[in-house]
Amino acid sequence: AQIMSRGLPKQKPIEGVKQVIVVASGKGGVGKSTTAVNLALALAANDSSKAVGLLDVDVYGPSIPKMMNLKGNPELSQSNLMRPLLNYGIACMSMGFLVEETAPVVWRGLMVMSAIEKLLRQVDWGQLDYLVVDMPPGTGDVQLSVSQNIPISGAVIVSTPQDIALMDARKGAEMFRKVHVPVLGLVQNMSVFQCPKCKHKTHIFGADGARRLARTLDLDVLGDIPLHLNIRETSDTGQPIVFSQPESDEAKAYLRIAAEV
Ligand code: ADP
Repeated sequence: AQIMSRGLPKQKPIEGVKQVIVVASGKGGVGKSTTAVNLALALAANDSSKAVGLLDVDVYGPSIPKMMNLKGNPELSQSNLMRPLLNYGIACMSMGFLVEETAPVVWRGLMVMSAIEKLLRQVDWGQLDYLVVDMPPGTGDVQLSVSQNIPISGAVIVSTPQDIALMDARKGAEMFRKVHVPVLGLVQNMSVFQCPKCKHKTHIFGADGARRLARTLDLDVLGDIPLHLNIRETSDTGQPIVFSQPESDEAKAYLRIAAEV
């Protein structure tokens, strides 16, 4: 079955892209986009010879423009492909560059699919070693069609340690297995909060949920990211922590995860 799935004729590689890594989550708001952005920066930081791109296929709630401090419309290349926008050394493409920032995306399924097709096939990435794909949350049509249309080296699943997030993360892992996408492992986000004043550590969303789930599903835990004000602030102001505070413990947590994928 493995061999057949790799050989599926529909799975045409994205031109110029060596490896695609998708970042997924069962639920929204668990830190998937923050992880995707910092993972892309960390892959580039760990090995400066690697060219890294970031593709945001979260069409309903694109976060990459804000997190990467980018806006504007992509130019077209001579062959009519969209040129990614560049910041912090990462080539980025997002639905957010193609629609008004404030306009809600109220599309029927077919329009969503044609937008996805455009994002997957009509971008001039040049040569990339890694393309990190920020998926929408959940296990719907978009996730399935991305997984079935392009060859994916591996999926990283982000979850908080909460049971409800983990339940959905489990569905995500099972979906990837069904379509023969290797799951690289889980990232346990917001695992611990350390009070900046008294240094006491609190496990706000539970302590070890992702580790338990990983054991049940026979998956690796790629790393733990603490709940930290600096991550929230840098992410929301478009100065991702791996770029703006590379020496911080939080940035190092992302750098370690990137070394594992
Ligand atoms: P998702 O992509 O899963 O919806 P986001 O990456 O957009 O989640 O994160 C949701 C919010 O949580 C954002 O405001 C982000 O800055 C914040 N956030 C994510 N991870 C952390 C973390 N480890 N510590 C603090 N804030 C975080």
